[in-house]
Amino acid sequence: MSDVKFEKDMEATTESTDDYVLHLPRPLNLEEKKYLLAVERGDLPNVKRLLQLANKGKGKQLDMNCVDSLGRGALTLALEAENLEMVELLVVMGVETKDALLHAIDQEFVEAVELLLEHEELLTANQVIENAEKEIIHSWQKVDPASARYPMDMTPLVLAAQRNNYEILKLLLDRGATLPMPHDVRCGCDDCLQAATGDPLRLSSTRISEYKALASPSLIALSSTDPLMTAFRLSWELRELAISEPESRGEYMKLRRQVEKQVFHCRECSPDILFLYTLI
Ligand SMILES: [Zn+2]
Repeated sequence: MSDVKFEKDMEATTESTDDYVLHLPRPLNLEEKKYLLAVERGDLPNVKRLLQLANKGKGKQLDMNCVDSLGRGALTLALEAENLEMVELLVVMGVETKDALLHAIDQEFVEAVELLLEHEELLTANQVIENAEKEIIHSWQKVDPASARYPMDMTPLVLAAQRNNYEILKLLLDRGATLPMPHDVRCGCDDCLQAATGDPLRLSSTRISEYKALASPSLIALSSTDPLMTAFRLSWELRELAISEPESRGEYMKLRRQVEKQVFHCRECSPDILFLYTLI
């Protein structure tokens, strides 16, 4: 009897281990190890040779999108090494970009951001040609949520704004990226109602993430015709949010201080602003 119980316990343990193992990258074969090592070392000729063989189906089972034990693929390694030539080679040879654009923005690797944006535009154009009615799915949304490095609702513009990188923000806005529009706390639209019944905490963290982006001085300077007035309005909204979402009060007040610092900085440039400042 006890033996049977023991076996059952063993089965249960094996099952739960399998669940866990599912999210771990599979071990690399020798060819893939050579490939990732060559990428890491910046060995362009060897990487090119291995990828050409893989593309012709002659490679020894080389998956060009393989990842190492830390979940880093070839593009991640090339971005980490800030090797633009390698990034370009990998993209041209057909390695999936996935969240590489977010990674490049996170690292503030401007040239790579530009290259990956151009590539994304091509992919988007192809999707439109293939099926105009379908919603566009961007590369960075095609990541397994279990191993995603960034929150699933993260966008290039929000990340660039959070890094407050003027150059990257300008690139994104010039290419038509739109500003985040956080919904009101009491918003009753279908999206908010669905999100609130599913995971209210996520809804709240998405809102904070979007306000963090909107509070970026570079984004305000680039996107507003009247940056000072935008900062005033934002400061007001953040105060309201700190009251209506007490669990995130600390975060909203910190952002408000950041925005007010900008206002104060501008105020020194123009005495007329003093009057406006007294209103908030
Ligand atoms: Zn809403």
